[in-house]
Amino acid sequence: MLDNLTQRLGRVVKTLRGQARLTEDNIADMLREVRMALLEADVALPVVKDFIARVKEKALGQDVIGSLTPGQALVGVVHRELTELMGGQATGLNLATQPPAIILMSGLQGAGKTTTTAKLGKWLKERQKKKVLAVSCDVYRPAAIEQLKAVSAQAGIEFFPSHAGEKPAAIAAAALDYAKKHYFDVLFVDTAGRLAIDSAMMAEIKELHALLNPVESLFVVDAMLGQDAVNTARAFNEALPLTGVVLTKLDGDARGGAALSVRHVTGKPLKFAGVGEKLNGIEEFHPERMASRILG
Ligand code: GDP
Repeated sequence: MLDNLTQRLGRVVKTLRGQARLTEDNIADMLREVRMALLEADVALPVVKDFIARVKEKALGQDVIGSLTPGQALVGVVHRELTELMGGQATGLNLATQPPAIILMSGLQGAGKTTTTAKLGKWLKERQKKKVLAVSCDVYRPAAIEQLKAVSAQAGIEFFPSHAGEKPAAIAAAALDYAKKHYFDVLFVDTAGRLAIDSAMMAEIKELHALLNPVESLFVVDAMLGQDAVNTARAFNEALPLTGVVLTKLDGDARGGAALSVRHVTGKPLKFAGVGEKLNGIEEFHPERMASRILG
């Protein structure tokens, strides 16, 4: 995960650690390396510029130049700023509401919404002993409904059946009614994705959001898409009150830039990372740990 970025920054960090004295000049050299590493990892340019400016400001402060081990101190600054860039604290899922806590899943087709729904459902069931129901409002692709049914069974969560031709809002209302009557703690609402953003999809998901008023509105995005992931996140964030982002396929050869840009661009926390096709391939996103992993 994030190998490219880790390798590049790792080299910078190694050189930095060895520096007995740091001057404005060699700080500038190091920052140029960090900048290149971030750009190569496909981090969005405005994010890189902002990041470098912040590190520079801190590094030129006394804490780095005046410190006994300035190289280490600069690594510390980069680590803290990386953590900050990815959102500082881990936030986790918010279920603090009158049950059922509704979690609305959005994203483009193929992003991993359905898989992530089952992964999170399994996670909540196993770790928090929650009673979980999942429903699909993707009335355009019967295969998507079948897929949610299959992965829900694998995950050991209950599936609320729906059918092509029904209205998404009617399905969601029926599932909510069922969840209330049967005392479910959590209701996942999986939605239709398209291959690209289109206004019909956005209008439909906005309607679902207004109807359900979910406590979590999670945008699922494929990390492999790099800059496109960030652009899609921006568009969904403008259309929908998102509460968080799930970045999938971080186990692939994604260059990892999306992990660093999405938070900055949307202002919404990265809550989970998908790290495999299997249903246990999900991790809570910890900015601090991720920064450590990136810096090696
Ligand atoms: P949806 O169209 O957004 O519902 O996407 P799916 O859940 O059907 O996922 C699309 C493909 O991506 C499937 O083949 C999944 O197995 C795969 N996938 C989803 N999440 C991950 C992940 O974190 N890692 C990997 N390697 N594959 C994933």
